[in-house]
Amino acid sequence: MIDLRLLREDPDAVRASQRARNESESRVDDLLRADEERRAAVQRFEAVRGEQKLLGKQVSSAKGDERAALLARTKELSAEVKAAEAAANEAEQALRKAHMAVSNLVEEGAPPGGEDDYVVLREVGTKPDLANPRDHLEISEALRAVDMERGAKVSGSRFYFLIGVGALLENALLQLAIAQAVEYDFTPVIPPVLVKPESMEGTGYLGAHASEVYRLEADDLFLVGTSEVALAAFHTGEILDLDGPIRYAGSSSCFRREAGSHGKDVRGIMRVHQFNKVEMFSFCRPEEARDEHRRLLAWEEEMLAKVEIPYRVIDTAAGDLGSSAARKFDCEAWVPSQGRYREVTSTSNCTTFQARRLNIRYRDADGRTQTVATLNGTLATTRWLIPILENHQQADGSVRVPKALQPYLGGRDVLEPA
Ligand code: AMP
Repeated sequence: MIDLRLLREDPDAVRASQRARNESESRVDDLLRADEERRAAVQRFEAVRGEQKLLGKQVSSAKGDERAALLARTKELSAEVKAAEAAANEAEQALRKAHMAVSNLVEEGAPPGGEDDYVVLREVGTKPDLANPRDHLEISEALRAVDMERGAKVSGSRFYFLIGVGALLENALLQLAIAQAVEYDFTPVIPPVLVKPESMEGTGYLGAHASEVYRLEADDLFLVGTSEVALAAFHTGEILDLDGPIRYAGSSSCFRREAGSHGKDVRGIMRVHQFNKVEMFSFCRPEEARDEHRRLLAWEEEMLAKVEIPYRVIDTAAGDLGSSAARKFDCEAWVPSQGRYREVTSTSNCTTFQARRLNIRYRDADGRTQTVATLNGTLATTRWLIPILENHQQADGSVRVPKALQPYLGGRDVLEPA
């Protein structure tokens, strides 16, 4: 939820942000109206409630006819207080609904436009010189690393088994990511993957993207699409001691319905319903958030360098940001079989938007409570196996293991076909 003080002071800034996102500006006016109506309703409630209290005191000292008249007014007032309270509650709910409908303010500097209007910030690494690159599925079938057929048999399309060196490589990658995160002061976390609706909503995943999440109706729980949800909600309702950013690295399975992805990336493990991810998550003071965002990006790039994958960094355009993100940078790895870059990481600065919904605060230098900023960034996922296998494939069908991964693979420097 955006800052209502900022909305009142500078509604045009919020309108401009909605325009940049290609989202309705009228939601800003709806929110302004709901804000005024709520304030008026609360004032009315407080006024009648004040009168009721005063009357209570007067009744106790009054006698005879005066007392009878005051008692009659007390009865009337009690109905008025009830009605005013109900109206204030209703106005509060209407405000929350209007508040939830406005996306986070886009950070200055984010490129304008939609999905294809990203700006490439840099390209890093050398693309391998492969005459006829095999794709990750061919390579992993030769290695007996991935079994899509049995995945489909057991669970349906977009499911798979990682087996043998496939499972070892994935575990190696995740361990490397966790080790790096710990080196940079992240507390490692294994969070729940089933969360309550309020945690899902608080992180902004039940708005426009509700159809992308799995819901367990009988228990009213959601399967997370990212551990960001549980990590953000971890401190719900708390006041944090912030002496620099608080950082967590969550490792979890992630579940996505991929409802809008019909026919897209149907081969292999590029776009699946279940995958693993190590996710960095930071809570910090709002004024530290921009720098922390650049640090998260740098750590993602460091991981990509460790697995020796060529990649590029893109600055996502305003119209392609999730509702919670003010700015988002993605790293896209080179995928030789496709001859193009594909997204493997994403880091978002959510400023105070998520934390306001989740009511997570800190105490500033004057002892006042303020809303914290939250940020997230991918450190590794199952999808990384694709560029690792494809960029390091060798003519004899084997795959070279990047040096940084070797200690987590029992010292192996090459994966041989089975
Ligand atoms: P997101 O949280 O949507 O920004 O995704 C973060 C990262 O998760 C992406 O960069 C991919 O590496 C990975 N990812 C997202 N969706 C899928 C999927 N359906 N299958 C496999 N990996 C995915």
